[in-house]
Amino acid sequence: MTGAALQPAVYVHVPFCATRCAYCDFYSTTDEGLVDAWAEAVVREAESACAQGVRDVPTVYLGGGTPSRLDAARVAALLGRLRGALRPAPGVEVTIEANPDDVEPDLVAAWRDAGVTRVSLGVQSFDGGELALLERRHDAARARRAVDVVRGAGGLDLALDLIFAIPGSPPSAWRRTLIEALAIGPEHVSCYQLTLEPGARLAARLAATGASLPGEEAQRAAFLEAHERLGAAGFDHYEISNWARPGKRSRHNQTYWRHEPYRGLGPAAHSYDGARTRWWNSASVREYVEAIACPAGAAAAGREILTDDQLLLEQVMLGLRTADGVVAEVLGRTPGGVGAAEALVARGLLVRRGDRYVPTVRGMLVADGLPGRFW
Ligand code: SF4
Repeated sequence: MTGAALQPAVYVHVPFCATRCAYCDFYSTTDEGLVDAWAEAVVREAESACAQGVRDVPTVYLGGGTPSRLDAARVAALLGRLRGALRPAPGVEVTIEANPDDVEPDLVAAWRDAGVTRVSLGVQSFDGGELALLERRHDAARARRAVDVVRGAGGLDLALDLIFAIPGSPPSAWRRTLIEALAIGPEHVSCYQLTLEPGARLAARLAATGASLPGEEAQRAAFLEAHERLGAAGFDHYEISNWARPGKRSRHNQTYWRHEPYRGLGPAAHSYDGARTRWWNSASVREYVEAIACPAGAAAAGREILTDDQLLLEQVMLGLRTADGVVAEVLGRTPGGVGAAEALVARGLLVRRGDRYVPTVRGMLVADGLPGRFW
């Protein structure tokens, strides 16, 4: 396991959205009345993290919600104050998630000038019908314009988020989205399989119409199409849902997969000390702001201490979703041990690479079931 001496990656949860998308069950609110109180509380939480020894942070990730809802002045002020509190390491990776609908030249210039290095653009699809079904605010033309604006600003890596396995959509729609994404030339692409979250509107709508997600074979074919097309274009498939150009992996997200420490600021944000303790903030902007405003200023609404077994299971589970895999010594500590890993090698689901076992693309397709082979 990685030691707690590493400085944590910092995640800032921006919990505001203009509207709620049909498939989403992330915590966010369309009530933007508390934006300034939220920003103040985030800075206070960062200052308190600094007082506890958090500094020289390697990455800062503004996620949401919709961070691009913050106007240029607010985002510049927030990032400036976070920089003062967290004293990022030289070469810090700073990512902002953005909805195409919000992307305008002045805003993107403000991100760049405030130290943002990557824009993660929630394109999801270049198919108008799919975007309408997902109830996204943008259409395909707006997504294309957002790409041009980010590229026009210069100095920013572009990461595209895409969604596949959309109900009622033919395979050709996914193919066209992949081809268009590749033509744009991003540094990073994430392809997420649509899931029906019970709390999201889409699940109820599909249930009412009798429609359903594409079957397993179609999902598998869409995943393999992404793997093949992105691989052929020189992208490294380094985690089940993530592809990067050489040297352009998301350093921030790798922190989670490597079980390294991270510090979450803002409502619903989770933190991990890199050893045994994980804690999380209230999933309510108001409660979060009130908790920080208390004299003690602590935002944590819950906490858990992980056992050795939980730590081992998480390490195996997360590692086997990535191209870096898991070191044999760690797998040797599971009940199934290295024997279980060799059995998966024989089935073509893992390969041994140096001191590690890493998933093949077939292994990635069944990654959720792999840890169960060790217990
Ligand atoms: S998908 Fe993103 S933009 Fe849509 S409601 Fe969820 S957090 Fe907001």
